[in-house]
Amino acid sequence: MTKYIFITGGVVSSLGKGIVTSSLASLLKLSKFNLRIRKLDPYLNIDPGTMNPAQHGEVFVTDDGAETDMDLGHYERFTGIISKKSDNITTGKVYSEVLRKERKGDYLGSTVQVIPHVTNEIKKFIKKDLKNEDFVICEIGGTVGDIESLPFLEALRQLRNELGKEKSLFIHITLVPFISSANEFKTKPTQHSVKELLGLGIQPDLLICRTEKKFSKDSKKKISLFCNLSLDSVLMLENAQTIYEVPLKLHNEGLLRKLNSHFALKIKKTNLDFWNKFYQKFVCLEKEINVAIVGKYTNLSESYKSLNEALFHSGIFNNTRVKISWIDSRRIKDFNKTQKTLENFQGILVPGGFGKEGSSGKINAIKFAKTFKIPFLGICFGMQLAIIESLRNLKGYEKSSSTEFGKTDFPVISMMHEWEKGKKIHKQDLDNLGGSMRLGSYKSILKKNTLVFKIYKKTKIFERHRHRYEVNYNYLKPIVNSGITLSGMSPNKKLVEIIERTNHPWFIGVQFHPELKSTPFKPHPIFNSFISAMLKFKSKS
Ligand code: GLN
Repeated sequence: MTKYIFITGGVVSSLGKGIVTSSLASLLKLSKFNLRIRKLDPYLNIDPGTMNPAQHGEVFVTDDGAETDMDLGHYERFTGIISKKSDNITTGKVYSEVLRKERKGDYLGSTVQVIPHVTNEIKKFIKKDLKNEDFVICEIGGTVGDIESLPFLEALRQLRNELGKEKSLFIHITLVPFISSANEFKTKPTQHSVKELLGLGIQPDLLICRTEKKFSKDSKKKISLFCNLSLDSVLMLENAQTIYEVPLKLHNEGLLRKLNSHFALKIKKTNLDFWNKFYQKFVCLEKEINVAIVGKYTNLSESYKSLNEALFHSGIFNNTRVKISWIDSRRIKDFNKTQKTLENFQGILVPGGFGKEGSSGKINAIKFAKTFKIPFLGICFGMQLAIIESLRNLKGYEKSSSTEFGKTDFPVISMMHEWEKGKKIHKQDLDNLGGSMRLGSYKSILKKNTLVFKIYKKTKIFERHRHRYEVNYNYLKPIVNSGITLSGMSPNKKLVEIIERTNHPWFIGVQFHPELKSTPFKPHPIFNSFISAMLKFKSKS
């Protein structure tokens, strides 16, 4: 029988609910349970696809082509369980389904209301598309007390009533701040937050209290007394050195012991060897490299969460601390400034991006990496710009551009319908920005005797995509003439998936996002190789 764990957050946002959810999932997975991990997001967008990553963080793309909340990326990285479209729901999705049914007349004349129609839809989603999983873990976005999350919390309250305590568990994550002037930890915000939940009819079964440093047993006792909880139901989670230490910390605090007793499970031993070793490697890293990521959303490393993590995973794999500098490409509009900005890096990475703004700085960074033989990785937009850069140096192609930047006589990067005239192409909806991209997992065929074939050691690969534009098939010849090898293509040989420079030690561009599939368990081969190329470059210079 499937059991449900609901995770809410209180007091403030950014408590690391996603990391706690992922860590809990990891501990259950390592205890040999089957699970699904879901995120309920109270905002009105249908999905985060159209949201600005500088505001909301990265858009995580699943194999089955959904644009989802970046927490789903954490879930995958901590557990290796592949997320699906059905694992992320938003208020927008719930309401559009309710309204669709209303228009169809499905409600047979009744007044359509938040309770029960919206809450029923939420409950349906939570139970949808399951295959006898032992656990479904649901994280609720936002903070308890937000207006938007009320229907979600109400749906969970109802679910608890339907499932009973034996089949459901509420975990509430709060903050226990340390006030230095009083030299004291303060439990009041936690008490208030639990009260807020109680007011909605939910008594949490377990509290996870985030804190900067360990607090005393007295604080625990106080929380337990005021929040109706036994002492062992109040767990403390102090700041960690890396997010991948959190499963170990929660295990030490007795999280599994608590689940064992609540659900009458029979977990005997959970093998934590992997996390222990990973953590040990992390604290003993011997080497160091500096990589420049040249992009536009540089104000928040959250915008490129998976990329950050992928470099970290491959760093650990290579026994190397990877120091990332986020360079705003608008700073290097002028090629003369490139040297000064980029000379101290062993690798340059141009990640995915959108729009003309900042693109000339990115092209300059690519040119710099090409000219000085610095290891270079271009991801998605980064690959498209690497092609434009290359062609602009070929006689007669100086005006090469992307139709993403406006009308051009040399549309080297463009939408497929623009160059495959008259044929029916995979859906690209030009009026609606939401969901109009090539999204999800696609197959590529790699050419033998290329750098990427050496890296992947196979010819068929699957990687995740998220882009509207493609390399224009009509320009493949000049692209090759400009010094580029087309080392990975779509199975029909029409779409360029991977490029590399012939005359360069490590220069790769990929149309997909390899960072979305990297995990600590399986660091991605492209990043592993990129970092080892940077180490080689460092030892030579
Ligand atoms: N803007 C480009 C496109 O839509 C690249 C997108 C990306 O880098 N994810 O094709």
